[in-house]
Amino acid sequence: MFDVLTVGEALVEIMRPDRDQPLDKPGEFLGPFASGAPAIFAVAAARLGLASAFIGGVGNDAFGRLLQARLTHENVNTAGLRIVPGRSTGLAFVGYTADGRREFVFHLRHSAGSAIDVDLLPAAYFSGIRWLHLSGSALALGDAGRSACHKTLDWTLAAGGRLSLDPNLRPELMPLDEARQALGPYLAVAALLLPTAKEARALTGAADDDAAASRLLGGQERIAVLKRGAQGCTVYTQQARLYMPGFTVAEVDPTGAGDCFNAAFLLGLNSGWDLERVARFANAAGALAVTKQGPMEGAPTVQEIEAFLAQAGRE
Ligand code: ATP
Ligand code: MG
Repeated sequence: MFDVLTVGEALVEIMRPDRDQPLDKPGEFLGPFASGAPAIFAVAAARLGLASAFIGGVGNDAFGRLLQARLTHENVNTAGLRIVPGRSTGLAFVGYTADGRREFVFHLRHSAGSAIDVDLLPAAYFSGIRWLHLSGSALALGDAGRSACHKTLDWTLAAGGRLSLDPNLRPELMPLDEARQALGPYLAVAALLLPTAKEARALTGAADDDAAASRLLGGQERIAVLKRGAQGCTVYTQQARLYMPGFTVAEVDPTGAGDCFNAAFLLGLNSGWDLERVARFANAAGALAVTKQGPMEGAPTVQEIEAFLAQAGRE
C-alpha cells in the first residue's frame, strides 16, 4: 500500500561546484549525486515518512549501483526499478549562473533511465495506492517512458488513487510545444497541480499568474499550487487564493527544492491539514532543501521541518 508512487528518470548529476562555470569550458565537476526529479521526489517523500515507491531504470554500472543503493537506503520501494542490460545509467551535467539560472547537458533519452517497463508489475502493486506523482520530465523519456506513465496513471485511477503533477518543464529535454501536448491528458485529470509560476504561465499562455492558475484549474474542484522559489507559493482552488510567503535561508543548491516541496505538500494533504498549514509546511521543506549541496541531500524529515517552523515562529 503506497502513499505515493512515482515513475521516471533516475540519473546521476555531476555539477559545477561554483557559479558561472559554463559547461562549454573545461573545469571542475562535483559528483556523482543521485538525482532525477522523480527519484528526488521518491526520497523526499520517504524521508517524510510516506510509503514511497519508485519505478524507473538504471544501468548495470557504478552509477546504477549508486542510485539503487541510495533509494534502498532511503526506504524507497524499488520493486519497479529495472537494471537494464546493455544501457548506461542516465546522466546530467549541471552548471549554475550567479543570477540563478541553470544549464543542463542530459544523457537520458538513450540511457537505462528511459528504459522503463511496468508490464511485469503485479496488480497488487497498485492496491490501496493514494497518489501517483508524475514529473513532466518523465514524458520526455521517449515511448517507453510515456507508455509507463499512461499505464501507471490508468492503474492508479482504477485503484482509487489520485494524480499529482509537476510539469517540471525542461526545454533541454522537450520543447515547450511538445511538452504542452504530452502533458495535456495529465493536466486534465490531475487532482493536484504543482508548477512553478513561470511554468503555469508558459503552459497556459496566460499573461499573469492568477489567469494561469484559473486556466489550470479549468473549472474543476482541485488544487493548483504555483511555486515561486524564495518567495514561497500561491495555492489556488475554485473557492480560494492563498499566498504563503517563503522563508529566508542561505541558498546553497536550488535543485530539488520543488520535489521536496511537492512531497511535503502531499504529506500535508494526506494528513487532512488545512491549506494554509500545508502551504507553510511545504515552503519550509523547500527552504530546507536548498540549504544543502546535492539534489536530495537537503530533503528534510518532519522533525526537521517542525523544528524549523518553531524557530521561524519565534523570530
Ligand atoms: P526544482 O529545481 O526542484 O525543479 P522548482 O523550480 O520546481 O524547483 P522552486 O519554486 O524553485 O521550484 O522551489 C520550490 C519551493 O521551495 C518554493 O515554492 C519555496 O517554497 C521553496 N524554495 C525554493 N527556493 C527557495 C529559497 N531560495 N529560499 C526559500 N525557499 C525556497
Ligand atoms: Mg520544478
